[in-house]
Amino acid sequence: MRKSYKTEINPTQEQIQKINKTIGTCRFIYNFYIAHNKELYNKGEKFMTAKSFSVWLNNEFLLNSPEYLWIKDVSSKSVKKSMENAYTAFTRFFKKQSRFPRFKKKNKSDVKMYFVKNNPKDCFCERHRINIPTLGWVRLKEKGYIPTTKQGYVIKSGTVSCKAGRYYVSVLIEIPDWNKPQLNNFGLGIDLGLKDFAIISNGITKKNINKTAKIRKLEKQLKREQRCLSRKYEDLKKRNNKMKGEATRQNIQKQVLKVQKLHHRIDNIRTDYINKCVNEIVKTKPSYITIEDLNVKGMMKNKHLSKAVASQKFYEFRTKLEAKCKELGIELRIVDRWYPSSKLCHECGCIKRDLKLSDREYICECGYHADRDYNASLNLRDAISYKIA
Ligand SMILES: [Zn+2]
Repeated sequence: MRKSYKTEINPTQEQIQKINKTIGTCRFIYNFYIAHNKELYNKGEKFMTAKSFSVWLNNEFLLNSPEYLWIKDVSSKSVKKSMENAYTAFTRFFKKQSRFPRFKKKNKSDVKMYFVKNNPKDCFCERHRINIPTLGWVRLKEKGYIPTTKQGYVIKSGTVSCKAGRYYVSVLIEIPDWNKPQLNNFGLGIDLGLKDFAIISNGITKKNINKTAKIRKLEKQLKREQRCLSRKYEDLKKRNNKMKGEATRQNIQKQVLKVQKLHHRIDNIRTDYINKCVNEIVKTKPSYITIEDLNVKGMMKNKHLSKAVASQKFYEFRTKLEAKCKELGIELRIVDRWYPSSKLCHECGCIKRDLKLSDREYICECGYHADRDYNASLNLRDAISYKIA
């Protein structure tokens, strides 16, 4: 089985230069291929495939135009890939599947630096860094997200891309069959909530990351910087026609970056937390996991809930849990959201219709009592009507 992973990297200045140069050269070659074929067409000559273009470029064009030899400075694999991509764009056009290939514009298009595993040392991935041909070791921002080579995973190929000044690596990984673990003979129910993030039927509770001191402090800081930004905008309005306008504008740009950086930082912490939760849950190797079908869309419509829901990344949790379960062969059961997981007594099965949101403890007439969410997680675990994701 093959799977792709994408994550942010933290390249050095030198690596950034190399990446930018490679992407720039690939964009040039992509556009050159299109332009050259256009010219051939206008002269009534035969269309050139990527292969014949490559031969022409190396044996004819570069010999006559040595000023373009900088094309050779970057990874030839990546350059070749950009020719192939342009060729694919043409074949799609010939098959009437898409329009005539367009030129790639700087900063606006999706040109990537391609790499492929050629020898055993290439594409080696450790928990915190990955070895990319022509770049060397590159630091990973999110540690342990890409499966490591030591675990038996093989990276076949990948790309490095840049978006809004941030760099990403995307890799295609061959997952060996023997990596499917032996699953244990038990299931887990997970109750997701706003107070705590997840209550698991094995007794483990995952706290709400937004209630930690770290996030609270960053959120406060963010609010402060946002207020500062809007003050600066007000300032600009007042000074609209005066000399100081330009300085203020630069000032605002700085402040915008500050706010963006804080946003990213908070978002990264939340994503890391989601990944950690998913990993810890599947690590116990249950044969199945049951969760409620969250009505995220409905909750987002509720003004009071939407912010809390969005910031807890329930949807991302569900998507990542589903992917991990598929990978490991764990059955993911989705229970209808009308299933009364909170109101059901796990002991005697009766339904407590008057259970209020404020009731933290579930107390039944049969003598059973438990934490409300823990009771819900047990009911989810034992649900007999569900869909399989
Ligand atoms: Zn009961």
